Amino acid sequence: MSGTERPGDDGGGEHPPGRLEVHKFGGTSVADAARMETAVERALRAAAGARVVVVSSALAGVTSALAEAAAAALRGEVARALETAEELRLRHERVLAELAGGDGGAVLDELRALAAALAGWLRSVGALGELTPRTRDRILAVGEKLAVRLFAVALRRGGARGVPLDADEFLETDDRFGEAGVLPGVTDAVVRAALAARLERGEVPVVTGFVGCAPDGSTTTLGRGGSDLTATVLAAALGADEVTIWTDVDGVLTADPRVVPGAQGIRQLNFREATELSFYGARVLHPRTILPVASHGIPVRIRDTFTAGEGTVVDGRFTPGSHPVKAISAAAAQALVTVEGKGMAGVPGVAARVFGALARRGISVTMISQSSSEASITLVVPAHDAIEAELALKREFRADITHGEVDEVAVRPGVGVVAAVGLGMARTPGVAGRVFGALARRGISVHAIAQGASEMNISFAVDDRAVPEAIRALHDDFGLHRLDTGEDGGKRIDLLLMGPGSVGRALAGLLLERSAHLFRRFGLRARVVAVADRSGYLLEPGGIAPEALRAVVEAKAAGRSLASLGGAPGHAAVMVRDALRYRLARPVLVDTSAYPDAAEVFREALRLGCDVVTANKAPLAGPLEGFTSLLAEAEERGRIVRAEATVGAGLPVMDTLEMLLATGDRLLEVEGALSGTLGFVMTMLEEGALLSEAVEEAMRRGYTEPDPVADLSGADVGRKATILGRLSGLVRSDVPLRLAGLVDPALAGMEPDAFLARLRDFDAPMQERVDAARREGRVLRYLARVRPDSLEVGLAAVPADSPPGALRGTDNLILFRSERYAARPLVVTGPGAGVEVTAMGVLADIMRIAAERRPS
Ligand code: ADP
Ligand code: ASP
Ligand code: MG
Repeated sequence: MSGTERPGDDGGGEHPPGRLEVHKFGGTSVADAARMETAVERALRAAAGARVVVVSSALAGVTSALAEAAAAALRGEVARALETAEELRLRHERVLAELAGGDGGAVLDELRALAAALAGWLRSVGALGELTPRTRDRILAVGEKLAVRLFAVALRRGGARGVPLDADEFLETDDRFGEAGVLPGVTDAVVRAALAARLERGEVPVVTGFVGCAPDGSTTTLGRGGSDLTATVLAAALGADEVTIWTDVDGVLTADPRVVPGAQGIRQLNFREATELSFYGARVLHPRTILPVASHGIPVRIRDTFTAGEGTVVDGRFTPGSHPVKAISAAAAQALVTVEGKGMAGVPGVAARVFGALARRGISVTMISQSSSEASITLVVPAHDAIEAELALKREFRADITHGEVDEVAVRPGVGVVAAVGLGMARTPGVAGRVFGALARRGISVHAIAQGASEMNISFAVDDRAVPEAIRALHDDFGLHRLDTGEDGGKRIDLLLMGPGSVGRALAGLLLERSAHLFRRFGLRARVVAVADRSGYLLEPGGIAPEALRAVVEAKAAGRSLASLGGAPGHAAVMVRDALRYRLARPVLVDTSAYPDAAEVFREALRLGCDVVTANKAPLAGPLEGFTSLLAEAEERGRIVRAEATVGAGLPVMDTLEMLLATGDRLLEVEGALSGTLGFVMTMLEEGALLSEAVEEAMRRGYTEPDPVADLSGADVGRKATILGRLSGLVRSDVPLRLAGLVDPALAGMEPDAFLARLRDFDAPMQERVDAARREGRVLRYLARVRPDSLEVGLAAVPADSPPGALRGTDNLILFRSERYAARPLVVTGPGAGVEVTAMGVLADIMRIAAERRPS
């Protein structure tokens, strides 16, 4: 072509210093003058900071129009073909006029020359009634040749030295017309020879995408969508620092947005993941795009030309984490080919013969699945290769068919292959089960299944018309509609804290101080992503930075509200919804509040795929119906609710219970001294103090609730007993709690002095009970007793040398009587209240959830 200079012979193997970027613009990015202006702006901006090579596709729709024109000419409809050629000429001339105003003269001649050549080739096709793959490629390549000339003009108008280059003059490929491959080794050297000197001179080469040249010099094409491949081939040859593929979507999405409108952008993909996705039909990248750059580690960004959003980066980073599946893609229009026969089992080399036969005809296999009996091999090939594949296999196995070793070679057209892709799958058990569960629930039947040895994808063939539904099913089931937070890492666990009171702050403190240890010792990476109090919430999907979290803790301790710290207004349930818009790693709602309405927040969390850890008794101790339905909801959704800190603060009460039940023991009774405050009061009574004196001392030491009636009425112990009864399974029905407090709950709300004065009325009767017990060698303890369908809380006289009798001060004690621990109970004892130990109980629950390693 006259407009493109021959590649210079200068420019050896060395790369000149300085940053080098390849920018590829897809058809929609250069569809008309306005869009091309935007694309050119992107290129100009890049050229301000680096040496730049531009790769351009044909204007949107042009390649398809050329293919149709060629087909029409072949059918003898030459006039129609020429009409298309004429329309294309006019379209490009209009764009040129808009882009270049009056300075397009020389380029206009080039466009006309290309259009004239095109018309000549179409006429020949019509006259000969023959369209060889070679001629077809020459015709298809015209689209890109027209485009680069327009792009280069616009670049020059923008002040850059844009030079259009036809890649069929230097990008050497094999001669598989229509689907040509680049030649390893050869291509790199000739590309460098063609481009290096230009770059050094400060030019911006604008190279035709999609186009190459066969060994005999004729034009080839790299397959539809092949401009992506051109970009990475050039980048690898030139040792570029980065490739940007500019398109009409904000990067690679979790699925084709036309099938799943809620598909989300993926911020980072490993080279292998991107390869797999493009191979299985994610059209945003040509299937072979990644190969040239992966071995050089050159990152590829996929970005939206019009919004210039962040897009996706494809690089060598390996980010497994808890999201086993990153995206779903699908290849439509496939056919299933089955080679079957009892004589095949155990015979070596059958699979090799199958692939050999297909490879010799250049048929690429989309998917392979072999039954474990080896009595059949199923493969999926593109529908347009199905007949050829069938023939090839029948020929290959002719002798075997005659001898009865192979029964048949069957073809089933009308299938599509869907693939779930993600490197994290290799380390997450149960992904296949989840995939097929999701399909089964929608009544989609699967014809064949394959899991790559890399365990990076699970692919399966279904009826073509079931493909969109299958994609949506998986997208939904793996939560891919949520926003990508951009990083997955190891055993990460994301915490949503509700109620940053003293316990919540202590927990945040533990996480901050112990994070290195927790990671080293247990591989746990817990991050706080959100915090809610009554005023509002803070949310940072990528994790609240340690300094920021520390600042929140300090501000809360100083009495400030989250709203005053810039938090969004809204209830904790709003925080949960807002946070769960993101694809968090193992999200856990942690309730360290005393909010009476927390159950509603729990439900929302469970519904959205969040586990729950609570130190708040309210949601578990309310009406039985609420408790039962909450746990049923968790069960149904496969979520976890843990509540260690609701009974004995940091003491392993629930843990012990679970251990007994899990190992097959049968629980008979649980008895406990569950109130540190009342324990302290009882010890003082035993030592001769009066009730009012003991309570006054407990208040002075800060052992009581702000209103001591909450402790003395037994209400708090009653709630703990209720939770113990329910979670142990001992209490299944709505039996009434038999609660005898030390004082009437009606006394609540009095001034401390007035209350203490009123309490003196109880001193004498209490002293009598203490004395009566002592005469029998007993002491008084405030105990909760949980038996099958019975809950009792109240004062009991127990032998002074029994475990509860021997208890001193604020310590708690829990006795488990079971079939195994019948004669002597299993005893858990220690401090059962306090901010630090409660926070520890909560952290222990978080660690237990992390240890379960289930997909979120
Ligand atoms: P270009 O012309 O820029 O090369 P393409 O049409 O070839 O653009 O590719 C972009 C299109 O790929 C998107 O508009 C979208 O419809 C489709 N697509 C299919 N799967 C995906 C996916 N997983 N992520 C993003 N886009 C996808
Ligand atoms: N123009 C070619 C096509 O439409 C190549 C590309 O767009 O990448 O397939
Ligand atoms: Mg494309």
